[in-house]
Amino acid sequence: MNKDVIFLNMISRDLCIKNPSSDIYYNKPDVLIDTGLDGNLALRLLKETNVESDLKYIVLTHSHYDHIGGAKKLRELTGAEIAIHKNGYQSLKEGDGQKTASSLFGADFDFFEPDISLEDGDEIGGLKVIHTPGHTDDSICLLDREDKKLFTGDTVFSNGRPGRSDLKTGDTNQLIDSLNRIKQLDLEKIYTGHGGPGKPEAIDRALNFLKTSYI
Ligand SMILES: [Zn+2]
Ligand SMILES: [Zn+2]
Repeated sequence: MNKDVIFLNMISRDLCIKNPSSDIYYNKPDVLIDTGLDGNLALRLLKETNVESDLKYIVLTHSHYDHIGGAKKLRELTGAEIAIHKNGYQSLKEGDGQKTASSLFGADFDFFEPDISLEDGDEIGGLKVIHTPGHTDDSICLLDREDKKLFTGDTVFSNGRPGRSDLKTGDTNQLIDSLNRIKQLDLEKIYTGHGGPGKPEAIDRALNFLKTSYI
């Protein structure tokens, strides 16, 4: 099985640069990780890379608008199932504009009910779900144990900075605990929510950043 990762919005980076869209990854054979803001654009990127017909799961790393904005449209267009941590499942179903930060973006967001509610330890599309609260209470990382890679969402970025913890359901102490947890994993590469792929050392740097910022 080919388990390559495609960094989708690197391919048409010019299209995404004007908006605050998250990074979008395709983990072969059948999982999309985050959709960015625009479902039509995500579909176009999937078509450009010839993986559109394989797509089964749209896994959202958390419920922030810049990561999930295109999910509903993309589900309509492809029939793929949307999966998110159980805490995010509720906020999307109930239409929580503060928690999704869609009110921050000034967006009139069309909420939707996801298909799959995830918990720590679940497996989806060959990836293990690790609940990593701190940036939000529904943040997850997705681990491929075989290939030693981790999709981190906004828990940590490739530049060694942690995600912010001052938005609704954010918690700095939980973020430190979550970073300490993923630091223990045997990793070769991380795929972050903004700034693209990076090295696992970014996790240590994010922890050091938090220690020096908050002590
Ligand atoms: Zn983000
Ligand atoms: Zn976020």
